[in-house]
Amino acid sequence: MSKINSVDELEARGRRVLVRVDFNVPVKDGVVTDDTRIRAALPTIERLVGEGARVILMSHLGRPKGEGFEEAYTLAPAAARLGELLGRPVAFASDTVGADAQAKVAALADGDVVVLENLRFDKREKKNDPALCAELAALADAYVNDAFGTAHRAHASTAGVAALLPAYAGYLMQREVATLTGMLDEPKRPFVAILGGSKVSDKIKVIDALMDKADTLIIGGGMCFTFLLAQGLAVGTSLKEDDWVERAGAMIAKAEERGVKLLLPVDVVCADAFAEDANTKTVSADEIPADMMGLDIGPKTAALYAEAIAGAASVFWNGPMGVFEMKAFEAGTKAVAEAVAANEAADTIIGGGDSVAAVNKFDLAEKMTFISTGGGASMELVQGEKLPGVEALRAE
Ligand code: ADP
Ligand code: MG
Repeated sequence: MSKINSVDELEARGRRVLVRVDFNVPVKDGVVTDDTRIRAALPTIERLVGEGARVILMSHLGRPKGEGFEEAYTLAPAAARLGELLGRPVAFASDTVGADAQAKVAALADGDVVVLENLRFDKREKKNDPALCAELAALADAYVNDAFGTAHRAHASTAGVAALLPAYAGYLMQREVATLTGMLDEPKRPFVAILGGSKVSDKIKVIDALMDKADTLIIGGGMCFTFLLAQGLAVGTSLKEDDWVERAGAMIAKAEERGVKLLLPVDVVCADAFAEDANTKTVSADEIPADMMGLDIGPKTAALYAEAIAGAASVFWNGPMGVFEMKAFEAGTKAVAEAVAANEAADTIIGGGDSVAAVNKFDLAEKMTFISTGGGASMELVQGEKLPGVEALRAE
């Protein structure tokens, strides 16, 4: 596979560089409430500004209808926040490829920055429409993609436009791809993969891919009940996917065949309702009451998982161990997060929107080696799929 072009190879001075960033940030009352994603793009933006490029930033935000401007999804607050972070003025175009965008781009001096309005106000973006690709390309001399989080989508700004301009990967994109593929190609052993979250059906390809790589596979979260069913246990009213019991059984058999240690919960925190104030009871995994649902792994399981994690040389974690959003069911996820954080010698990689949220909630992000900014994109990469937004950046 040919290598990915790096923004380092781009002669940027005086050139108009169109950069796809992920500024899909939460906004409240016109103010960005979490600027993590904007900060993540700073190294690439600062490099281009420092080189004297004319920097044109484009992104999506939220899920507008695609029929033009919607106040709730304007990128104006993100542009304002970027200006604060860069400590320099950042222009904002009130459209994406229209008259204002063209005028603001024409007005750029070397080292200036403009943010274009939300790409998804135009329904052609998600359709990878050739006309929109051409209109975007006409704004610039070169293209950089630093939006790893949308790299699994073949949209105009992530795929189509890349074919029309010299295309390069920004630093965030490079780091995400290098870290995740490096982990899969040459994991330090023992390699412990931790999988949780809600559904087996969402994660089956990830489980399958990691089965080929990991030494130990830890299963928690809602998906564990389908595995427990496959072992012939009763799971009460827990989240379960009857159609996937057979596949889960096949996974258990595959693990055995490959010598992969597969860890499943030995105890479970059960509740009589999916609610913070539900009545709860911690039981052994083979004693889940018929009228209760498992909402977290139990303390014995957490200790078992922590022990396996402590012995790892590399760890990949996706998916919370329980309903960590509710205090009553956060202990399992917290224990696993703490165990990963405590293993300072290991390479520890966290992927997936809710898993990252959990790590942040427990204030442990600083202790991890790498936190992926791409939810779906990181999962598709781990599954071994080719991401259109990455493939478009490969050298000929
Ligand atoms: P990620 O975003 O990290 O990939 P998922 O989206 O797959 O993770 O799953 C996260 C969700 O799974 C959380 O909202 C969490 O509440 C839910 N979850 C975890 N354990 C359970 C459970 N036992 N029952 C129901 N939902 C669960
Ligand atoms: Mg999620």
